[in-house]
Amino acid sequence: MKIKDILSSQQKPFASLEIVPPLKGVSKKDLIDSIRPFMEFNPPFINVTCHRDEFEFRPEADGTFSRHLVRRRVSETAVCAAIQAAFPVEVVPHLICGGASSEMIDSQLNDFKFLGIENIMALRGDSLLGEKRFIPEPGGYRYAGELVAAVRAFERSNGAQFCIGVGAYPEKHFEAPNLETDIANLKKKVDAGADYIITQMFFDNDVFYRFRDKCRASGINVPIIPGLKPLSTFKQIEMLPEAFSLDIPQDLVAEFNAHPSDRTACYQAGIEWCSAQCKDLLKNGVPAIHFYTMGRPDNVVEILKKFF
Ligand code: FAD
Repeated sequence: MKIKDILSSQQKPFASLEIVPPLKGVSKKDLIDSIRPFMEFNPPFINVTCHRDEFEFRPEADGTFSRHLVRRRVSETAVCAAIQAAFPVEVVPHLICGGASSEMIDSQLNDFKFLGIENIMALRGDSLLGEKRFIPEPGGYRYAGELVAAVRAFERSNGAQFCIGVGAYPEKHFEAPNLETDIANLKKKVDAGADYIITQMFFDNDVFYRFRDKCRASGINVPIIPGLKPLSTFKQIEMLPEAFSLDIPQDLVAEFNAHPSDRTACYQAGIEWCSAQCKDLLKNGVPAIHFYTMGRPDNVVEILKKFF
């Protein structure tokens, strides 16, 4: 079923999940066992992130260097196939522009069609380490909006039909000069054919409400699903703002600063903060909440127990 149809026919808000493909060497059974705890809450869909190929340069005997592909994780397509076979849930593979030509994107879309996958998340992906700005692959796409348009073009020539989600940033994407410009660019993605939006994680609901109001005022009318992540370790206070260009409110930082080396206290503080966010979001008419699990099912499960 397409996510847009799930959203338009839902009776009440639901929880959806995002997982990162396991590292190579993890078995299919381990993957399925890590997802099983979520299934009692009937998530209608699970997103599977996509990671750009990395390359390594190795010295050769003649003094030259050879380039080698390094794939650390199982592909999102394989993970989606495994989840689909194990559980009655829609899978949403992420599809990124980074490192992919238009032919490679078409080939991935063919694989999704082959597997009966009806939903995808279209994203640009980040720059490679050392690149100042994102550089598209020759013959590839510069912005997620171009990718959305390419998926719609693929559908016309291949008889497929995908429901397309796109990403958005309540605190603005780090490259955008301001939130208004970023929202205008978000509208381009919707105008190109995106069906719904999932936001980057945020820790202050007011930031999300202001963003949602601005989206509506600029004519973005598709569903906007907030993305949440419960903090679980002290290190994340430093790591997440740097990795995702977001703010962590002072009250939450203070909670963690109060017991920096007490893992249990930090873990509980993260659950409580995220639970309060959920309660408030559900009161304020969100269609669903998307949880970034980032390899940790237990704290998300604690929160799902309270609300879903
Ligand atoms: P875009 O929408 O293309 O935007 C990128 C920048 O370009 C923004 O500053 C925007 O304002 C600007 N822009 C957009 N369109 C135009 C235009 N037409 N003209 C001028 N400027 C424009 N990354 C991964 O590698 N793998 C994942 O699985 C993954 N999953 C994610 C899931 C979610 C829900 C989110 C929110 C992000 C995810 N990311 C993932 C991160 C994402 O790839 C990066 O944040 C990336 O830097 C931007 O991707 P985007 O799709 O938002 O890009």
